[in-house]
Amino acid sequence: MKTYNEALEIIKNEFEKLSLHTEEVDILGSMNRILAEDVIADVDLPPFDNSAMDGYAIKCCERKSWNIIGEISAGNYTSIPKDRSGNLKEGDAVLIATGSKIPNNADTVIPVEDVVVEGKNLRLSENIFIKKGMNIRIKGNDLTKGSIALNKYTKVDAKAIAVIASCGKEKVKVFSKLKAAILATGDELIPINETPIDDKLRVSNSYSLYAAVKEMNHSPLMLGFVKDDKEIIRHKIKDAIEMNIDMLITTGGVSVGKYDFLKEIFEEEGVIEKFWKVNIKPGKPIYFGIYEKDERKILVFGLPGNPVSALVNFYILIKPAIEYLFHQNHINTIAAVLLDDVKKKDNKRHFLRGILFKEKGEWKVTSKFSQSSGNLVELSRANCLIVVEEEKRNPAKGEKVECILI
Ligand code: AMP
Ligand code: MG
Repeated sequence: MKTYNEALEIIKNEFEKLSLHTEEVDILGSMNRILAEDVIADVDLPPFDNSAMDGYAIKCCERKSWNIIGEISAGNYTSIPKDRSGNLKEGDAVLIATGSKIPNNADTVIPVEDVVVEGKNLRLSENIFIKKGMNIRIKGNDLTKGSIALNKYTKVDAKAIAVIASCGKEKVKVFSKLKAAILATGDELIPINETPIDDKLRVSNSYSLYAAVKEMNHSPLMLGFVKDDKEIIRHKIKDAIEMNIDMLITTGGVSVGKYDFLKEIFEEEGVIEKFWKVNIKPGKPIYFGIYEKDERKILVFGLPGNPVSALVNFYILIKPAIEYLFHQNHINTIAAVLLDDVKKKDNKRHFLRGILFKEKGEWKVTSKFSQSSGNLVELSRANCLIVVEEEKRNPAKGEKVECILI
């Protein structure tokens, strides 16, 4: 049996061996995608010296009053004054709007709030001091032409889109989404549009895992669900591994029960086992293997059927490995003070459902609700998984614990 850290390392290592594809998408289509190229500035940013404030452009600094000789608004640059070959003279001032190009020879902008204007006369207000260079954004200060504006592996958000647009790129290269096929197994399963009778159960796992893949902005593919019949499952698995997918995620039938066939089928169909069972709770029976054929490689995850186990497995083993693959080092854990005593007697790593919140500037977490691996309603209330390491026993109220945001 693997430890949590060993299992995660093995999965990361196999994800790294996937050959990643890239594609060109429109700038707005790149939202939430991962850049597969550096974005290079094709111009200086800002493209010209410009004013950071609404104010008056002057040549600094000997005097305290000036003559207003004209104005410049954004996008309407006129060289001022025209009769002095465009050069501002000592004593001249030009009314200038934020973002407007600075006139030749001006080196300072005094904000409108700091001056008194009487007709064409401008003077500094009482107790205001100016400094040469103030309120001017220098050409190329943010970026010089040819330099890297955004690094490869940046996850594109609104902030990044602004940079891509400013670099004049209508299209940008991003990594293609990973394709993950999802198959549920179990005699007890029924479609969600049916009402369960007797021992039947709606197939919630397919939906939760579909959503979990989608949440990461990858491509899930729903393969439906099948009964615990070895040949029927085999048929589905055979079809699945012929598909153009990167991951196959199954749920159910991977433990030690009489009707748990997944592990056997994987083996018989040529999937190479990397591990089976991890020393964690919930989600211990997880299976991980690799299927390789003609340059194609599929990561095969056999998750247990319990809805909490399946989704927790995804959050703690699949999600961080995908984030690692795409260099997404998000801050997704928070250290918090535990608000209740927790029972833990074994040497597994536990991932308890918790509610994390901030109170008086301090992060706190409560684990006071059902920790059953079947209780998907309680899981839906949780906003984090509290990590209790292998060697730790009975963490007590007041202790600091690491919480993974979910
Ligand atoms: P298994 O891992 O196949 O032993 O499944 C364990 C339990 O998880 C089953 O008894 C069901 O209660 C539940 N379960 C299995 N598959 C699903 C599913 N697709 N959706 C929701 N619950 C499931
Ligand atoms: Mg089952």
